[in-house]
Amino acid sequence: MLNVVIFGAPGSGKGTQSELIEKKYGLVHLSTGDILRAEIARGTDIGKLADGLISKGQFIPDDLMIDILNGQIDQYPTAKGFIFDGFPRTVPQADALDSMLKRRNIRVSIMLNIDVDTNELVKRLINRGKTSGRSDDNLQTIHQRIQVYETKTLPVIQFYDRQHKHHRIQGTGTMEEVFERICKEIDSVIS
Ligand code: AMP
Repeated sequence: MLNVVIFGAPGSGKGTQSELIEKKYGLVHLSTGDILRAEIARGTDIGKLADGLISKGQFIPDDLMIDILNGQIDQYPTAKGFIFDGFPRTVPQADALDSMLKRRNIRVSIMLNIDVDTNELVKRLINRGKTSGRSDDNLQTIHQRIQVYETKTLPVIQFYDRQHKHHRIQGTGTMEEVFERICKEIDSVIS
């Protein structure tokens, strides 16, 4: 089974690259951001909680996020593998993902860290905000999201470094160029 963690700051291209990986390698793409936005659209209790936090650039509590992801994995018993997009975003989430997968006798195969500098991230997110309709793609929330990323999410890199699973991907260039770099790293762990 091939299980990919796609990692990077907001605006680094995780979602776009996940879709390309999903198609090429036949994996199930689990995006926690998409899952939460679907809850908001359905007006569920989780959605109501997530709505306020997302628009302020804050994280959903770890326990809740872990429960949601665990439930999602169960929905795909025949998956060839998963792409975890937007999860883990904290070290406790990374720990929980390891436990969740271990219980199912599987593990994270590779963590791809898409690296893009902060000025470029802000530019991309402001641009995306013109069409995305996302409540968090505005200048104030963008800065907040990047700050939360730096304090809570960056330590996740060391977590996967210690497991020798962290692969840095240069995230600038065209979508195709970035995808090519990603495929090279994935192919190096499956061959
Ligand atoms: P994304 O679409 O991945 O940029 O996620 C949008 C927002 O959803 C984030 O800024 C967080 O508020 C929330 N979110 C998504 N994934 C997580 C997670 N793993 N832990 C906590 N909050 C999350």
